[in-house]
Amino acid sequence: MAPIVKHYDYLVIGGGSGGLASARRAASRYGVKAAIIEGSGRLGGTCVNVGCVPKKIMWQAADIRKRLEDAKNYGMDVGSLPKFDWFNFVEKREAYIRRLNGIYERNLVKDNVDYISGWARFTGDKGEKKVEVSLLSGETAYYTADHILVATGGYASVPTDIPGANYGTTSDGFFQLKSQPKRVAVVGAGYIGVELAGVFNGLGTETHLFIRGETVLRHFDPMVQEAITTRYIKHGVKVHKKAKAFEKVVKLPSGALEITVEDESGKQVVEVDALIWAIGRGANTSGLNLDIPGIATNKVGQIESDELQNTNIPGVYALGDVIGWVELTPVAIAAGRRLSDRLFGGPQFKDRKLDYTNIPTVVFSHPEVGTIGLTEPEARKEYGDDKVKVYNSSFIGMYYSVFDKQEDKEQTIYKLIVAGEDEKVVGMHIVGDASAEILQGFGVAIKMGATKADFDNCVAIHPTSAEELVTLV
Ligand SMILES: Cc1cc2nc3c(=O)[nH]c(=O)nc-3n(C[C@H](O)[C@H](O)[C@H](O)COP(=O)(O)OP(=O)(O)OC[C@H]3O[C@@H](n4cnc5c(N)ncnc54)[C@H](O)[C@@H]3O)c2cc1C
Repeated sequence: MAPIVKHYDYLVIGGGSGGLASARRAASRYGVKAAIIEGSGRLGGTCVNVGCVPKKIMWQAADIRKRLEDAKNYGMDVGSLPKFDWFNFVEKREAYIRRLNGIYERNLVKDNVDYISGWARFTGDKGEKKVEVSLLSGETAYYTADHILVATGGYASVPTDIPGANYGTTSDGFFQLKSQPKRVAVVGAGYIGVELAGVFNGLGTETHLFIRGETVLRHFDPMVQEAITTRYIKHGVKVHKKAKAFEKVVKLPSGALEITVEDESGKQVVEVDALIWAIGRGANTSGLNLDIPGIATNKVGQIESDELQNTNIPGVYALGDVIGWVELTPVAIAAGRRLSDRLFGGPQFKDRKLDYTNIPTVVFSHPEVGTIGLTEPEARKEYGDDKVKVYNSSFIGMYYSVFDKQEDKEQTIYKLIVAGEDEKVVGMHIVGDASAEILQGFGVAIKMGATKADFDNCVAIHPTSAEELVTLV
């Protein structure tokens, strides 16, 4: 059979957050002839299948377990905690995700975007902009387009230099676990490691968290680093600080894993039932033959892009995790939509692009973290010590007011960083219950350039924790 050859106005490689958003905007709003190529057989990308969505569901399960524990303080003693039915809950979670996959597919039909199911790579002679797809049906198809977007996302890394490292898995493997490990090791201080460790610990697994430094979340404000590290230790996570030198991982006859590592207390041999590497993510570019069109990458393999999402090759664009700027779903979506506006929306959108500053970010740890803008060290570096003022608040939220034991009362910590005469808010960092929900609204204000006086002018909502943010002195 002759291979399929087709030309599109807009061809998107990668049916994840960024790719879907961009293709749908192009076709539905501007009537562009668009297609999306997805290799995994299911739409939605990392976020829907092995990221934000299943993670948040697991976080909720862990959160409910904590609330059940807390209930006795409200006169409702639930006795011993019910066993968490991991297997059936995971089935339920995956059924929900399959429903989402279906919704995404139907949305493409509704918006007139062709869905090509297969793995794509550039093909042809050097300098050509032609894409070959190994269709999941077994055929091969070829496509050309006026505009091509590469939105292929990223993959979780596993160390290559530690014997036995392959006995461990990554966040992808976490979502495949069919039963709850009794003991787990999570390696990595970034938000994914912290979130997964929090879920395991919250659901009752003995959790070891191995971090290279003294604190988790090293890119966050020092207050956040300190607060979450201390809180995790208090909640029973065994945090192994300065755990840099992993000697080996051995699989024991029982199936358990024995990890030999040096941490701040010296050489440790830790036995666990599962090991999760959360040591960072790489860009999905290796199979794409980027050298054929000549698309430039940086030294860690991410595609180089300017702020308009242009690569160095005219007519080829890149966004989302594959460029590694800010690796979050709403960032990929926003960049994707803006790119389609710019390419197909006419002259009024010729400069349309995503502003990558002041992007609100949360960590679904226990408790949650919300952060936007500069950390205190960044603000001091950018504006100078004399121009920066920091407002802090640390308090026990009303939820904990009736708790019987003092040590069960969780501290909520808020920090507002302002700069200049007008005290413009340049950073906000919050640790405590509901931080993720709280941050979204404050994010709007900060993005609009709110000052401390604007915060103070907003009448507080009482009784809440968030009211502290508009009454800081
Ligand atoms: C555990 C975890 C938790 C996360 N939690 C959050 C969160 O709470 N909030 C948040 O905002 N972000 C979160 N993220 C990050 C978020 O998932 C990503 O930033 C987002 O999915 C990036 O979107 P993207 O479009 O760039 O890539 P992706 O969504 O990864 O999509 C890329 C798609 O391209 C496909 N593909 C790759 N190569 C090819 C090819 N050659 N041919 C065809 N198809 C190809 C892939 O199969 C994939 O479907 C999390 C990530 C992880 C791993």
